[in-house]
Amino acid sequence: MGKPTGFMEYDRKKVTEKAPLARVKNFEEYTARLSDADLTTQGARCMDCGTPFCHMGIEIRGFAAGCPIQNVIPEWNDLVYHGQWQEALERLMMTNNFPEFTGRVCPAPCEGSCTLGINEPAVAIKSIEQSIIDKGFEMGWVQPRIPQQRTTKKIAIIGSGPAGLAAADELNQCGHHVTVFERDDRAGGLLMYGIPNMKLDKKIVERRIHLLQAEGIHFELNTAVGIDITADELKAQYDAVVLATGATKARELRMPGSEAQGVIPAMTYLHGVTKSLLDSNFEDERALNMKGKNVLVIGGGDTGADCVATAVRQGCQSVHQFGKHPALPVKRQQQQPWPADPQLYKLDYAYAEADAKFGGDPREYCIQTKKIVADEQGRVKELHTVQMNKIVNDEGYAYFEEIPGTEKVWPADYVFVAIGFEGTESALAQQFGVNVLNNRLYASGRDYATTVEGVFAAGDARRGPSLIVWAIKEGREVAAQVAKYLTETQALAQ
Ligand SMILES: Cc1cc2nc3c(=O)[nH]c(=O)nc-3n(C[C@H](O)[C@H](O)[C@H](O)COP(=O)(O)OP(=O)(O)OC[C@H]3O[C@@H](n4cnc5c(N)ncnc54)[C@H](O)[C@@H]3O)c2cc1C
Ligand code: SF4
Repeated sequence: MGKPTGFMEYDRKKVTEKAPLARVKNFEEYTARLSDADLTTQGARCMDCGTPFCHMGIEIRGFAAGCPIQNVIPEWNDLVYHGQWQEALERLMMTNNFPEFTGRVCPAPCEGSCTLGINEPAVAIKSIEQSIIDKGFEMGWVQPRIPQQRTTKKIAIIGSGPAGLAAADELNQCGHHVTVFERDDRAGGLLMYGIPNMKLDKKIVERRIHLLQAEGIHFELNTAVGIDITADELKAQYDAVVLATGATKARELRMPGSEAQGVIPAMTYLHGVTKSLLDSNFEDERALNMKGKNVLVIGGGDTGADCVATAVRQGCQSVHQFGKHPALPVKRQQQQPWPADPQLYKLDYAYAEADAKFGGDPREYCIQTKKIVADEQGRVKELHTVQMNKIVNDEGYAYFEEIPGTEKVWPADYVFVAIGFEGTESALAQQFGVNVLNNRLYASGRDYATTVEGVFAAGDARRGPSLIVWAIKEGREVAAQVAKYLTETQALAQ
């Protein structure tokens, strides 16, 4: 695969990132595609290693290794190297329903497992993936695939995130009649109203939704299942139901002062900004605006980073992000041996932008908020913090100890709470009679069947908060199980 000596001849290059101070002036995507010539040499770096761990998609000691949807990466690397873009697209679409999403925002566990990555920078797999599909759309190679024959079966999919969309795509291609119910005003789940526009342009999401509609999938937007239509109604009208409702029930911040005005769940902020952008290019002024404000983000993860990048774009006065844990290591650690995808320190887009704007990384590590203090009107005024030591005892159990004398007071006009998600909302599950375990819909990862006949579950709602690529995988797999169930029930009825 690729050019036998390519990995020795060419350096790794990934998508070009626009300069931080230029890109924070708008909400446009902050990356740009490589030239065809660069992509050819990047494809050439794939070294024909013989056992391509990049596409095996397993978990090793709790760490992902390889692509969860088993993209046949070496094959499309080779095709790109030889300029056979349309063939590369065909290979890619065999395993990935939505490469335009993963090619932009997947954390690329495939690259952590690349054999070349043992002692050289890994092949730029994600950038190549994005380029194949973007070129496919540009060249008009991606066209609606309308099923030639239809069955009599009707399937309801609840939730239009990547899991629901992948399931809908697969089942529609089998010829079944698929309706996707979505309570929001736009389809896409967190692709639309979670991940900000600068990471994933919403035109890209809408383009895919329009394609799915052209292929025959019906979308019922602004329809909250359980309220606007009941579980019993759905079960009576459809032959199978897939619950792909996500896991966005936010963890609550429980500390003195957390009820102060201006302490806002991260998703409320991000959702509002994207909606205002799409509805009116911010002219409706309905989004929270951080212009001139001191912003603090509690929670050291990716959702918090997206809040940082959004606040920087709005022209905040200052921004800091508090995380409980120490900084990640710069190099692969012994506990995360290749081919596991290592958890490493990165200067993500949001941090590079805040750094360029304010002259410092906004992340504060090993920090604990002790209390939030409000002014006389009940509006947040400041946060009180202390530094922590993370200690791992002989049994491997980690705990934190406060470091005396490190108390600090931070001025704040807004605090965004991004401390993770508990899991799925349980009201709908109760209405369907589906069991919930640890805030997840109870269904095995083998058959995706819940405890209720004909009702299936997939994506974050089933596995807990995760990633787009895992949601796509679950969407594909639940579809196969639904198709099998429909065939079996039909055979029994005859
Ligand atoms: C801020 C943020 C940034 C992220 N960034 C990344 C990233 O860069 N890369 C990455 O790989 N992953 C990222 N993720 C994670 C990723 O978005 C999720 O893992 C993925 O979207 C889960 O897909 P899903 O289809 O299971 O659920 P979701 O995308 O959550 O979709 C569920 C849908 O179900 C709908 N719904 C729920 N209940 C009902 C009901 N009763 N009736 C009708 N509709 C209902 C919801 O409105 C929602 O649209 C991010 C997550 C967040 C929150
Ligand atoms: S979907 Fe993610 S893991 Fe799979 S090839 Fe693309 S970037 Fe890599």
